[in-house]
Amino acid sequence: VATVMAVEDSTLQVVVRVRPPTPRELDSQRRPVVQVVDERVLVFNPEEPDGGFPGLKWGGTHDGPKKKGKDLTFVFDRVFGEAATQQDVFQHTTHSVLDSFLQGYNCSVFAYGATGAGKTHTMLGREGDPGIMYLTTVELYRRLEARQQEKRFEVLISYQEVYNEQIHDLLEPKGPLAIREDPDKGVVVQGLSFHQPASAEELLEILTRGNRNRTQHPTDANATSSRSHAIFQIFVKQQDRVPGLTQAVQVAKMSLIDLAGSERASSTHAKGERLREGANINRSLLALINVLNALADAKGRKTHVPYRDSKLTRLLKDSLGGNCRTVMIAAISPSSLTYEDTYNTLKYADRAKEI
Ligand code: ADP
Ligand code: MG
Repeated sequence: VATVMAVEDSTLQVVVRVRPPTPRELDSQRRPVVQVVDERVLVFNPEEPDGGFPGLKWGGTHDGPKKKGKDLTFVFDRVFGEAATQQDVFQHTTHSVLDSFLQGYNCSVFAYGATGAGKTHTMLGREGDPGIMYLTTVELYRRLEARQQEKRFEVLISYQEVYNEQIHDLLEPKGPLAIREDPDKGVVVQGLSFHQPASAEELLEILTRGNRNRTQHPTDANATSSRSHAIFQIFVKQQDRVPGLTQAVQVAKMSLIDLAGSERASSTHAKGERLREGANINRSLLALINVLNALADAKGRKTHVPYRDSKLTRLLKDSLGGNCRTVMIAAISPSSLTYEDTYNTLKYADRAKEI
């Protein structure tokens, strides 16, 4: 019970989303390696057949990379099974940090996991089933409109990617952009475009267009694997409406991030350019992990936090740690086809919980 309390008090929430099996996974006669027990608990590598879970078998053969060993039980702030909707995931992740955001705290929400595990589906979604980026922005508009009597507000959005340790604007593509730290404005990406979608439809159109501009390369592991980190940011500027007085302006930033695949470059037999990409992707991901670990160790004390080690962590310097609220969504596939990736993601998410 003590550990459960600690998780809830933390400024980092860690949730896991298990996507439904793909047709290929179902056809492959492999078995599921994840069982969602309840809203907080999942078991990895369930034993079979005696100690297994009836009803979990897809195929009937067990030729997957089944490892001997005990079931591993994990507890997270929330576990979403394959039936969870985008709205379910939104309600129990970003929705819970919107209050803090409106009070002026910077927030960040990451989708972490291997390529194909469901990160983009969760963050961006697909036609007719939009994800967290869209649902968050729409809910934010709704809340701000409800407060329009008391506050003047302005909302700006941006969408950028970190690819190969370079920053690119996904909405107005141009050369790589530089990061600067401004004493007043915090982290500034020079030349990044900002937008004010007039409607939910326009927002959806912007998100889809931005995503099409993401850098993608075929690799051995997955033809559509995404090797870039996509960062959607919402800036809200608020000012009290009090006649005759100059009120302080409050600015907060919400960063919604679809991280590059967490699988190791070596597993894709990457060579040359791909290998360099792989190394750089790992550099940003590794730096992110190191920053989160350093913040955990610091616990309010002054400690060196290695923000400068990658573009991603420099970009998020004012959105991690301190008073910021962070949600990590670990995306996993249920199939034994991706046994190692799923295990690595669960291990990492479990460690992140201690922050
Ligand atoms: P990633 O971005 O992590 O590489 P994707 O989000 O592209 O993975 O998901 C891989 C495939 O699985 C896509 O075809 C996607 O539409 C599908 N998918 C992922 N999550 C879900 C889900 N919760 N429900 C239905 N389909 C999903
Ligand atoms: Mg993706």
